[in-house]
Amino acid sequence: MPDTVHTGTQDDAMVMMPVGETYPEIREAVRKLCADFPGAYWQEKDRVRGYPTEFVQALTQSGFLAVLIPEEFGGAGLPISAGSAILEEINRSGCNAGACHAQMYIMGTVLRHGSDAQKKQYLPKIATGELRLQAFGVTEPTSGTDTLSLRTTAVRDGDEYVVNGQKVWTSRAEHSDLLLLLARTTPKDQVAKRTDGLSVFLVDMRKVLGNGLTIRPIRTMINHNTTELFFDNMRIPADSLIGQEGRGFRYILDGMNAERVLVASDALGDAKFFIDRASDYAKERQVFGRPIGQNQGIQFPIAESWVAAQAAELMTRKAAALFEAGLPCGAEANTAKYLAAEAAWKAADVCMQTYGGFGYAEEYDIERKFREARLYRTAPISSNLILGFIGEHVLGMPRSY
Ligand SMILES: Cc1cc2nc3c(=O)[nH]c(=O)nc-3n(C[C@H](O)[C@H](O)[C@H](O)COP(=O)(O)OP(=O)(O)OC[C@H]3O[C@@H](n4cnc5c(N)ncnc54)[C@H](O)[C@@H]3O)c2cc1C
Repeated sequence: MPDTVHTGTQDDAMVMMPVGETYPEIREAVRKLCADFPGAYWQEKDRVRGYPTEFVQALTQSGFLAVLIPEEFGGAGLPISAGSAILEEINRSGCNAGACHAQMYIMGTVLRHGSDAQKKQYLPKIATGELRLQAFGVTEPTSGTDTLSLRTTAVRDGDEYVVNGQKVWTSRAEHSDLLLLLARTTPKDQVAKRTDGLSVFLVDMRKVLGNGLTIRPIRTMINHNTTELFFDNMRIPADSLIGQEGRGFRYILDGMNAERVLVASDALGDAKFFIDRASDYAKERQVFGRPIGQNQGIQFPIAESWVAAQAAELMTRKAAALFEAGLPCGAEANTAKYLAAEAAWKAADVCMQTYGGFGYAEEYDIERKFREARLYRTAPISSNLILGFIGEHVLGMPRSY
């Protein structure tokens, strides 16, 4: 057990927070697994925009993707910091947690708001990997960040809902059996509150693919297997609804703090990858008869990246500690995600600069990770929107969104 400190008081409660790295045994086991998937594996997947099926299967078989699922449903029942440790180590090892991280935060919606029957039906199979829950359909082309303006509708018709509309950037849809879908069930002008009228569905895509559902891949600057989804009178059973009709936006918000902490951990892993690589290279590479790391122009940016990553790590631990104590952590989870995304991007740029021309060569993995690390400033939430959240909810300034 790492040393602990008391962290901030929330509702007068004192929360213990680990100072050292959490879950050292899990981290070691993840690093060992990742060693079987070296740079060459990811370079090949990147070239052909292929899904790292073997890697995701290995993680699933080792139980790592099910750590947050309660034991009664076949998971390990560990707290969120275990999930964080796993995602951080995957990215720190040079692998890409983006291929599989969504399962950890999507399943929380089923766990918190699903019926007993839904939990029994889905969670044990998700834990074993028999069912893959990797797709999350929120963003639409016209609404973008403004989720409440989404246009996809789900209309009840007897024992079914009929879904029409479009999603964009639905990642991993071709490599997932289930989709967590947010759709409008009551028109916007008929709801009492602006946050009402949206509902969450757990869609079994195997049953509707080619029969109301079309998936179209989007080629992007990173290998993220992202897609567009088109719903054309897609009929799904009424019991696909999670929780109460009309309360879906709240359910999605409930999962946001967990998502922020887990994605901060992805980004933190990237930051550490770049800092490790840059400092190693700076010690070895000799130019003008001395290691380049002896030059402050190279050494200080790497040191600054380390400092930025430390701040991100501390805030991620604080957010996780508050989350695990069941206390409010919106400000901390968002700040962690912001700091980690910025730290990863800074470290990525510094690492590219440290490697000089070699940073551009595929075989060193720096250019691939550089492209991948940029994502966290944009998705799943952009740094701007986090600043908007802090400006409004923490500092009490006017709302910008
Ligand atoms: C590779 C990738 C994978 C993704 N995976 C998924 C997924 O699996 N599921 C899913 O649902 N979505 C996914 N997304 C979507 C992602 O969450 C959105 O791209 C993101 O939320 C921004 O939406 P947008 O692209 O429409 O940008 P827009 O909403 O058009 O915004 C454009 C820019 O304007 C800024 N902006 C907008 N409004 C304000 C404001 N009020 N104040 C300040 N700045 C503002 C934004 O921050 C952004 O920088 C993914 C995106 C990418 C690129």
